[in-house]
Amino acid sequence: MSFDPGPASEFRTEVRDWLAAHLPAQPLPSVDTARGFAAHRAWERELAAVRLSVVSWPPAYGGRGASLLDWLVFEEEYYAAAAPARVGQNGLFLLAPTLFAHGTAEQRGRLLPPMARADEVWAQAWSEPDAGSDLAAIRATATRADGGWLLSGTKTWSTRAAFADRAFGLFRSDPGAERHRGLTYLLFDLRAGGVTVRPIRQLGGGIGFAEIFLDRVFVPDADVLGAPGEGWRIAMSTAGHERGLSLRSPGRFTAAAARLVELWRRAGDPADTALRDRVVDAWIGAQAYRRHTFDTAARLAGGGTLGAESSLGKVFWSELDVALHETALDLLGPLAEVDGLPGADGRWLDGYLFALAGPIYAGTNEIQRTVIAERLLGLPR
Ligand SMILES: Cc1cc2nc3c(=O)[nH]c(=O)nc-3n(C[C@H](O)[C@H](O)[C@H](O)COP(=O)(O)OP(=O)(O)OC[C@H]3O[C@@H](n4cnc5c(N)ncnc54)[C@H](O)[C@@H]3O)c2cc1C
Repeated sequence: MSFDPGPASEFRTEVRDWLAAHLPAQPLPSVDTARGFAAHRAWERELAAVRLSVVSWPPAYGGRGASLLDWLVFEEEYYAAAAPARVGQNGLFLLAPTLFAHGTAEQRGRLLPPMARADEVWAQAWSEPDAGSDLAAIRATATRADGGWLLSGTKTWSTRAAFADRAFGLFRSDPGAERHRGLTYLLFDLRAGGVTVRPIRQLGGGIGFAEIFLDRVFVPDADVLGAPGEGWRIAMSTAGHERGLSLRSPGRFTAAAARLVELWRRAGDPADTALRDRVVDAWIGAQAYRRHTFDTAARLAGGGTLGAESSLGKVFWSELDVALHETALDLLGPLAEVDGLPGADGRWLDGYLFALAGPIYAGTNEIQRTVIAERLLGLPR
């Protein structure tokens, strides 16, 4: 069933009005700086106070019990208003859906409310220096201890880990088992004894990543997600949300495409039909991703599940994001690289630099194409 929530609803109006009244007067400093991280955390608390940080979660955890479709409406309004980046994204969009699917009631009750208020901001600790695309090659270990586990090893490229509070990661708990078995999904405190976090500076200048070194870090049994040895299956559930609708909802792209159309109107050369066509393509791509996502949301609401098709969405949105930003840079010409001059807008260059990472994070597009070929098209391995 195809469903479009349309341009008007009571909820949409509430979100739009609230954002218009409460958005910070000046853009917050980058979330990838200590000051910016704190400012974004404070903003999340404002959202949480009116139950707008996690609208689709049950009220007991800080949400409104809204439908997935209303969550998409929230996202559209949020991006259209150019509201601050979501500092809690790893927890809100990756760990939380995994907790809903695989966590215990105790874990949900303990972990979700502080996540909704950004009292606990989460990082994802999967990649290792020698295990990225081949995630099952991870070497960091979880060794049995009295009442829990001791974690040792190195994790890398962990977004937000430089300033975050906690992390979720995959660890080898049974070195004798076949690669995809013997992995356990564990939650740990980034400030626990034995943890060293080393920030990594990114192309754009901010500290968007960190390496995490673990030396016999104790994690109680209560912080194992799913059963020991079940980590791979649970991690694939998280990955489905990262590639699919929750991390990159269409509102992000429809808002960017609308800004691109505005930019064309302001700065485009009507004789440059090739560039005009690229603007139109980007706009159509964003609308297509929106329609596709509404269909997916309607299917999930009807009891469907998110499987390998999330790889299709991931390839689509990441390539769209690069094309959209490249078009904006071509439209701006030299003005793309300066800020503060009339007609300049540094957001496009920042957005472009981040868009370049889209085909890499959440599993590279080469890997997604293999998933699509083998699991959706049934082509030979
Ligand atoms: C912005 C950003 C944020 C990230 N955030 C996190 C995070 O929060 N937590 C985390 O754990 N990780 C994070 N990552 C890491 C990310 O998941 C990895 O970079 C990614 O999985 C690729 O792994 P790799 O860098 O080790 O590259 P490799 O796996 O070494 O791949 C190198 C190249 O080889 C290609 N390749 C590898 N294997 C195959 C194959 N079988 N078939 C075809 N091509 C192949 C890849 O596509 C890629 O082009 C982030 C990365 C980026 C860029």
